[in-house]
Amino acid sequence: MGRIKILPEEIASKIAAGEVIQRPESVVKELVENSIDAGAKNITVILKDAGKTLIQVIDDGCGMSEDDAVIAFERHATSKIQTYEDLENIKTLGFRGEALASIAAVSQVEMKTRTADEELATLVKIEGGKLIEVSKTSHPPGTSISVKNLFFNTPARRNFLKSNHTEFKHAYEAFIRFALAYPEISFEFISDDEQIAKFEACDFETRIKQVFGEKFFETLIPVKEKTEYISIYGYTSKPEFSRKTKSDQFIFLNRRYIVNRSINHAVYNAYEHLIDKGSFPSFILMLEIDPRHVDVNVHPSKLEVKFEDESGVYNFVRAVVKHSLSQFNLIPELTLESTGEIKIQPSTNLSEIKHRLITLTEPMKEKIQKEQQYSLELITSSFPEAKTGTELDVKKVEKISREIESAIITAQEEKSDESITFMQVHNKYIIAQIKTGLMIIDQHVAHERILYERALDSLNSNSPFTQQLLFPQTIELTPADMAIVKELKDYLENLGFDLRIFGKNTVILYGVPPEVKQGAEKKILQEIIDLYKENSNTDPELTPRENLAKAFACKTAIKAGDKLTPEEIQVLIDQLFLTRNPYVCPHGRPIIIKISIEELDKRFGRT
Ligand code: ADP
Ligand code: MG
Repeated sequence: MGRIKILPEEIASKIAAGEVIQRPESVVKELVENSIDAGAKNITVILKDAGKTLIQVIDDGCGMSEDDAVIAFERHATSKIQTYEDLENIKTLGFRGEALASIAAVSQVEMKTRTADEELATLVKIEGGKLIEVSKTSHPPGTSISVKNLFFNTPARRNFLKSNHTEFKHAYEAFIRFALAYPEISFEFISDDEQIAKFEACDFETRIKQVFGEKFFETLIPVKEKTEYISIYGYTSKPEFSRKTKSDQFIFLNRRYIVNRSINHAVYNAYEHLIDKGSFPSFILMLEIDPRHVDVNVHPSKLEVKFEDESGVYNFVRAVVKHSLSQFNLIPELTLESTGEIKIQPSTNLSEIKHRLITLTEPMKEKIQKEQQYSLELITSSFPEAKTGTELDVKKVEKISREIESAIITAQEEKSDESITFMQVHNKYIIAQIKTGLMIIDQHVAHERILYERALDSLNSNSPFTQQLLFPQTIELTPADMAIVKELKDYLENLGFDLRIFGKNTVILYGVPPEVKQGAEKKILQEIIDLYKENSNTDPELTPRENLAKAFACKTAIKAGDKLTPEEIQVLIDQLFLTRNPYVCPHGRPIIIKISIEELDKRFGRT
């Protein structure tokens, strides 16, 4: 008698249905869930081509008999639930009996599986949902499933897959979540024949160190509490180690990774004024609640769950995290007064201004042929509305180049008042009188614009400026971040980063661009990578160069809150008016706001 049964229609129909398999990540997720449910002690995930040509998961779990091995690929075939009551009390990761059927429908699957008391394993081959072969083979107890050529029979969906870098990242992130939730299982991840990660079985603390490194672990404080209804344990970051992205936030419910904004908010709220707005804590929190009090059957990928007592859970999490923070008596480290050092060389001589005007008045067409991509990047950053796909409309470009030119002339004219004085207000804005009235400049975005153009210039010219470091710095990166560094290495070098990749997760930094503040080299590189990731998520059309230039400019620019000396202000303004578009920052935000004298007159009733 097999263990797997087809669910009766009345139960099957109660299960949240939907598209389960969207990308290699979904396959990794479903297969690893099955391996965990099968009681595996060792799980290996193998990808080729970021999972596009192969996703293989090998486990040493309970395996399947021949009967079960065939029926497992039917829809609603599961050994995990049988009755409606079971559905209310789910203790396994899977329960819908749909994953294998959905995977087999869109790929070429080869499965070898053997239970401990059998001598031979069963081999099952299925292509596009059609059973091709069932035979006997040798294989150690456990299951190995190879999913080849995902979406081979649905080209539209195959085309929808993102770059290998992106697909790899998603798949690896899914893998990491299981590794965090199941430290007692040994996990291995291999991609294109390279071992990316190998986590030996251990305890929760050690697993966090294995995954994120010892350094990261030191930035965390423990969270622990237990009541009759709910328990929580895990770690959350010391406030001073909060980050600009939400990428290191993990919540697990009964060891299932979940996405829940309410709990995220509860944690964030516990930090109250301990961290800046726009910064986020990192956390890995394990919640445990009797499965009867949660519904995991609300979402096809089981990522979202519904709590019986949503606000109770919110208050509990908030209170416990708050308590942990106060217990560790965490007074946020005073942020050092910025030295206000801005490393930009003054270069306001007329010949340079003229030179720039000449370069811009040259027929754009010719320029475009030479550096088409470069121009597109510059133009779209100056006039975001000009971007129409990847093709350049020459007419449009000519029009825009005229606009840029006149913008520069106006800007130059406006500030050519000799008696101009600048005033910094709230260490954030710079106010000055211009011919036609008053202008207010946002210092951060102004510097961002300058650095952005300079970065694009460096990326385009192949002659980097590097400031060598006295002591090379070693940086530990996660595999996903490492993949980005590898991909961007040439670009980073062009920008002025002198770095070498060392081993699987280490980068050694020998030099940095002069804009990078001394002492902040590591932090800035990490922030650039984080922002690069975020940018590529929010705007998948960004070219890597444009994205990197943006991230670099944003992270090295002076910040709101940095006090500037009058000289520094002067240099900043001069540099700003030498850019190709002093009015709009690379993200499309305004740099300068003008208030005309007419407007002021009107406001004061002087008509
Ligand atoms: P579900 O996990 O929701 O039950 P799946 O389609 O993922 O549905 O799997 C169907 C059934 O196949 C499972 O219930 C389980 O009995 C069996 N199965 C799948 N993968 C494995 C595995 N790696 N080891 C043992 N049994 C497995
Ligand atoms: Mg499953």
